[in-house]
Amino acid sequence: MSIHALSFPEARNYIAGAFRQNGGRAMPVISPLDGATLSSVTLSDKEALDEAVAAAHRAARDWAALTIKERVQVFFRFRALLEEHKAELTELVHLENGKTREEAEAEVLKGIELSEFACSLPQIISDEVQEVSKGVECRTSHVPMGVVASITPFNFPFMVPLWTIPNALSLGNCMILKPSEQVPLSAQKIATLLKQAGLPDGVFNIVNGDKEIVEAICDHPGIQAVTFVGSTRVASIVYRRATSSLKRALCLGGAKNHLIVLPDANLAMSAANIAASMSGCAGQRCMAASAMVAVGKTDHIVQKICEEARKIIPGKNLGSVISKEAKERIGRYIAEAEAAGAKVLVDGRNATVPGKEGGFYVGPTVIDYVTPDMAIAREEVFGPVLAILRADDVDEAIRIENSSNYGNASSVFTENGGMAQYVAERVSAGMVGVNIGVPVPREPFPFGGWNESRFGVGDITGKSSIPFWTQLKKTTTKWNPEAWTDWTT
Ligand code: NAD
Repeated sequence: MSIHALSFPEARNYIAGAFRQNGGRAMPVISPLDGATLSSVTLSDKEALDEAVAAAHRAARDWAALTIKERVQVFFRFRALLEEHKAELTELVHLENGKTREEAEAEVLKGIELSEFACSLPQIISDEVQEVSKGVECRTSHVPMGVVASITPFNFPFMVPLWTIPNALSLGNCMILKPSEQVPLSAQKIATLLKQAGLPDGVFNIVNGDKEIVEAICDHPGIQAVTFVGSTRVASIVYRRATSSLKRALCLGGAKNHLIVLPDANLAMSAANIAASMSGCAGQRCMAASAMVAVGKTDHIVQKICEEARKIIPGKNLGSVISKEAKERIGRYIAEAEAAGAKVLVDGRNATVPGKEGGFYVGPTVIDYVTPDMAIAREEVFGPVLAILRADDVDEAIRIENSSNYGNASSVFTENGGMAQYVAERVSAGMVGVNIGVPVPREPFPFGGWNESRFGVGDITGKSSIPFWTQLKKTTTKWNPEAWTDWTT
């Protein structure tokens, strides 16, 4: 096993404001860029979770007692620290996840934006007061849930944890983060910077681990709410298990994002956008273009997408996929589609990067004449692969999109506004793009899909975080003037 030139200390649990060595099975943290070992992480046992939950409960009362304006002061300082440590964070994300430095920097910038949103929560959150009958007043107040947990995936080691940490904490909760064991290093830096920003000990904790800790989080009576981001298979397991132990849960799953491309789409812009969407972060974005439905005479667009795809070079403007297993899985999807009659126009299999032969690279791949029954048309491939399906008209394209079990994102490419609106109104996805390949809603708009891309109610970021991370207390008050005592006499 080769050791990376840049190695990092073991990823530890972070409990009550201190990094702790924990018992359990150690596992290497591999940089997918070259296959070398970057660090290690110990997969915790349930006792570590118990300790973290106890620490969070000890901190909860004092943290919740602060006003929201006081709590967000931590995130003003945290945001400044993220700016200060931007280069280091970028390198960490690049090394542990395998995305390019440019993509890693974009991820860090998005984390900064998420922290900014939390700083604005005091201006956004509002309670109501009304005289509901003569002399009787009713008011609402947003009360934190208490101790909550956030379980995150490998593909955005920095950004996805920040979908939940700043908002949940600013709204008065204490948190246990369970990062992906494949990329546990960015979370270590988040903990260090939160402490530096003045977050009281115990408000934020990390427990590293795998399935066992996720299950223990779902079952733990000391945890009131759970968010999960990852594959649909695990999201559905976590949603069922957490809600069956009466927790509030929001579980975001995988995706199969469809792009509906009409013949009048702007050629250069659409082709560049679609190629970037399918290959960005090596196709490992839950918002990546994965299935394109080409409507009518669109050969010229397909050809231009292939030209753009050929400009995307592994190791230069394309990062690695996360693991050897991921590379093999992607290869299997391509091979099966080809064997079933699809035509591979650009073939990214067998990609290697000189000097990084141990890395896990798949080049951009474009496959035409995919049919809706093929696995590559229905399942999440999670690699830089665009499956092109053909449709005779826009209604057939919409039917294909609607038949997907997923519903994260969907985009339409056309210069016809009426047609764009027709498609946008009919696709079955939570996030829709018009001439945009990766239609991520930026703050303050919330992020979240539909169908099997999301289990639970509401979205995970933006204003939707307020009802998820709080419960509403309704206080009804009556004063009786006739019973007043005049204390002045
Ligand atoms: P994953 O489901 O394998 O893992 C996610 C988390 O669940 C990790 O922390 C992991 O330790 C844990 N886990 C894995 N197997 C488990 C099991 N059997 N029981 C309990 N916990 C388990 O996902 P991943 O491979 O890390 O991430 C990629 C997936 O995440 C893709 O499907 C992608 O679409 C999805 N994703 C979705 C969104 C979204 O917003 N919908 C965002 C990012 C990623």
